[in-house]
Amino acid sequence: MTEARAGISGQCYCGAVTLRSRAAPIVVSYCHCADCRRVTGAPVAAFAAFGRDAVDFTPALGSAVSHNRGVERWFCKSCGSPLAARFDYLPDQIYVPLGLIDQAEDLPPQLHSHCQAQLSWLYISDHAERIAGSSRQTLNDVTSLRAHEASCDEG
Ligand SMILES: [Zn+2]
Ligand SMILES: [Zn+2]
Repeated sequence: MTEARAGISGQCYCGAVTLRSRAAPIVVSYCHCADCRRVTGAPVAAFAAFGRDAVDFTPALGSAVSHNRGVERWFCKSCGSPLAARFDYLPDQIYVPLGLIDQAEDLPPQLHSHCQAQLSWLYISDHAERIAGSSRQTLNDVTSLRAHEASCDEG
């Protein structure tokens, strides 16, 4: 059984890379785009977004793989698991595949991004917001909202 413990922990498939965050995700989202399907090998991907410096990877993330302009992705050098992604259009955020995270059971996605690309036979009967294309606007809005709340707490 898992201990009740504050924060987020996770690891890649082989365990060579572990991650830890004291902050909760800013937002958790499915992504139905073809890129995310290929990166994860799954019919739909799910990611937790964190503040850029909120997640500590051990060992630290090395060199990124970039096949699309403005998108960087990191993979475990031993087992190939996707570890993280960063997008120029979502500044100050880092995206961690939900499947790596030990607390995934407690982190239901709040959004479906790129629903236009959803596989026709895939049925997910939740009430999460569905966005036909990129959710970058929503995701950026959520981030700026959270940043505002955080600054209000501090003030
Ligand atoms: Zn690994
Ligand atoms: Zn995607």
